[in-house]
Amino acid sequence: MTSHRFNPGTVHLLGLDTGDDLYNAISEYVKTHDINTASLAFLGAVRRASLRYYNQEENRYQDLEIDKHLEVTAGTGNVSLLDGSPFVHIHAAFADEEGRAFGGHVNEGTEVFALEVTVSQLHGDAPVRQLDETTGLMLWGPPQG
Ligand code: ZN
Repeated sequence: MTSHRFNPGTVHLLGLDTGDDLYNAISEYVKTHDINTASLAFLGAVRRASLRYYNQEENRYQDLEIDKHLEVTAGTGNVSLLDGSPFVHIHAAFADEEGRAFGGHVNEGTEVFALEVTVSQLHGDAPVRQLDETTGLMLWGPPQG
């Protein structure tokens, strides 16, 4: 286990525009505002979802495209550093017109219909992602300094 501690900072409420790319819009916002560490939450609706599933046997992502209108029933994520820049990591659950849910790691290509995002900025030394040999994922390393 790694553990990093922070003090709460500014909370940003974002209303994304119809047609925005969910991942890229949040990523650009945190980079523009120099937010290196944050907790994310969001809800709303999308026109299509581009998700990924991590195959734990083969240590690789499998892409999953859902080309329909969906509710975003629960979105969560965080911001930390990867290669010296703020990196957004997002997972979400989506539901269709029958309430059936889909979910996964949110990729570029998820098109917003309407989305409300809470970015809770955190103050402290940002966690830095590094390759984890066991999982093949870029995970948080130990606290720096
Ligand atoms: Zn993920």
